[in-house]
Amino acid sequence: MLKRCVTCGDPFDGASNRAKYCSAECRSNRSNGAAREPVGAVSAATRVELEQAQASGAAAQVALVLAARLDDATTPASALPALARQLGAAIDRACAIVEGGKRSHIDDLLEELLHG
Ligand SMILES: [Zn+2]
Repeated sequence: MLKRCVTCGDPFDGASNRAKYCSAECRSNRSNGAAREPVGAVSAATRVELEQAQASGAAAQVALVLAARLDDATTPASALPALARQLGAAIDRACAIVEGGKRSHIDDLLEELLHG
């Protein structure tokens, strides 16, 4: 019978009345407490921004880690504003490194990750 996945909303052919998820991925997203929004929205936007600036390297990686934490539904809401600020700074730095050809201050960035 045709059912709707409770995580992503996609229709799927449920083998039993108890089937609720279209895939193992959706089941695990749900049991991890993930929200209904598409997973990785912030990560996707961050990737686009880094790609547009052709930024790569350590600062870009830090930006992606921060983005993943923002996407993670288990991250406490109180931590989001600080993470968002750090992500903005990391993207700025990743892009500035490309423009200025400077080395990244990876220690500063990691400090922010550890204590942010
Ligand atoms: Zn699904």
